[in-house]
Amino acid sequence: MSETNQHKFIPCSRAEMTERGWDELDVLFITGDAYIDHPAFGTSLLARLLEDEGLRVGILAQPDWRDPEAFKIMGRPRLFAAISAGAMDSMVNHYTASKKVRNDDAYTPGGQSGARPNRAVIAYTAAVKGAFKGLPTVIGGIEASLRRLAHYDYWDNKVRRSVLVDSKADLLLFGMAESALTTLARRLLAGELIDTITDLRGTAYIAKDGPDGAVELPSYEEVNGSTDAYNKAFKLAAEEKNPFSGKALLQLHGARLVVVNPPAMPLDEEQLDRIYALPFSKQPHPSYREAIPAYAQIKFSITSHRGCCGGCAFCAITHHQGKTIQSRSEQSVRDELDRLSRHPEFRGTVTDVGGPTANMYGMRCSNPQAQAACRRESCLYPQICKHLDTRDDRAVDLLRKLRKHPAVKHLFVASGIRFDLLNRQPDYFADLIKHHVGGLLKVAPESSSPKVTKVMRKPGPQVFEKFLQKFREQSQKLGKKQSIIPYFISSHPGCTLNDMIDVALFLKEHNLRVEQVQEFTPTPGSLATCIYHTGRDPFSGEVVHVPLNANERRQQKALLLCHLPVNRKDVLAALRQCGREELIGRLTSNQDRGTDKAVKPVRQKARRPRRK
Ligand code: SF4
Repeated sequence: MSETNQHKFIPCSRAEMTERGWDELDVLFITGDAYIDHPAFGTSLLARLLEDEGLRVGILAQPDWRDPEAFKIMGRPRLFAAISAGAMDSMVNHYTASKKVRNDDAYTPGGQSGARPNRAVIAYTAAVKGAFKGLPTVIGGIEASLRRLAHYDYWDNKVRRSVLVDSKADLLLFGMAESALTTLARRLLAGELIDTITDLRGTAYIAKDGPDGAVELPSYEEVNGSTDAYNKAFKLAAEEKNPFSGKALLQLHGARLVVVNPPAMPLDEEQLDRIYALPFSKQPHPSYREAIPAYAQIKFSITSHRGCCGGCAFCAITHHQGKTIQSRSEQSVRDELDRLSRHPEFRGTVTDVGGPTANMYGMRCSNPQAQAACRRESCLYPQICKHLDTRDDRAVDLLRKLRKHPAVKHLFVASGIRFDLLNRQPDYFADLIKHHVGGLLKVAPESSSPKVTKVMRKPGPQVFEKFLQKFREQSQKLGKKQSIIPYFISSHPGCTLNDMIDVALFLKEHNLRVEQVQEFTPTPGSLATCIYHTGRDPFSGEVVHVPLNANERRQQKALLLCHLPVNRKDVLAALRQCGREELIGRLTSNQDRGTDKAVKPVRQKARRPRRK
């Protein structure tokens, strides 16, 4: 490594350890992603944090899991190995919603696929155990976190055991792991044995018994054998998610008991500021010769906060980061912008300032007592909670100050926004539309069918319509050519073919075009995945339609993209199947009809009233 790069990166090789004068690591991180020294990546963030605690840490990025020697290049670490699949679940990373193998990977140099194994947490843990007998193994990141209990796995189409059982790891860290990991490292350093560390929030382990007062869930065998038991386990676990009052959970897997401690407490402003002040170089490790696609997306972005109180049923972020909004101080964000402006490639454009939901910066629950007792999945759905402080003054101030930075020419907000906060945050939305859109604003209504948005826990179509109208009016007033790019999900639980026809009509009526369809993928641990597997809402017990059939899934997707001629056949088939042939003209009017043989005389069926 060159002089200038020294200590700009966490060591990834024996030579880099030697440059620091180390002959041994304390903690070895293993990740399924390439190493980019940026706080957007959990492994980099945690490695920098432990380095700041005075520990000697190294990162093994995308090691060859088939070769035990690949895990030994930096030697056996003194304390433990910290293992993560990377920023995504490895199965989501590898397969499309229709279970086809993806041929790219945004987190790998050159965008190449194949650099990480399927079920990476299990494969890496087995490799570490093979390389270093008896070394404590700690698993974390989104894959381990959302698979901590018995869970439905879409790719196997079955209920799998907790990843703790399958990986045989010593400890699992779930959610955001800063507190648990630093405390664990300090205690192991002080000589405690990993088997005896059972009291850390945000951790799970296998034991003979659990703490007093823990809630026992239906066992793996029960949830595997009965969808009612699965729903019951999901509901019970959801009720204990509140870090201020949640209890520990127990789930038997045969004779083994998985114990899940209560979640970690949210970080306060000072703790968050400390993390984001760590000396990230914000660059990929210099050993990489090819560009890493994910890096381009986050290179000049700033995370202002974490957590999301929206509670969308399909979202993994809420389940992983939690419902409490944790915001950095304005000074901390401004300091990061100062550092970013000195990046050799910075040309004045900040691509994003936000978090899981951009306009939640500075929001909080205003009633600590209510917050401690709260069991709501969402602070926004079905109505905005009276205790939610939705004021936008902090977010507005932050954006105003950042865009006045002398090095900034453009400052965009590319993170998602919750448009149901429009009326409560008029200044934020006015500034967003005036200064931070960059031509296209990505908004995710996800559906326009009230029946489907109810299952999704999203605001209904009228709220989106109001937002759209305001966006267009204000953009016009400002003389700006700006458009909305709407994001919709196809085949989400609750969405029938008829619902999707209504969505296609909604898009036409509002002159909107979907560029990319997100086909629903039942990712581990989410409410929507639970409904997908059981066919019922675990909270209300209502039966929910689940689009399972490949034809229906393809037709739903085609309806969202009905402006593309390639989808004509599927759109026609869907309209015929639902007896709504009278809509053929409306939904295919912009298509190049060509010589599509699928256009046949239609048999008249009973007219179905349009739902809205
Ligand atoms: S009390 Fe209301 S605002 Fe507070 S956490 Fe619960 S839902 Fe959110």
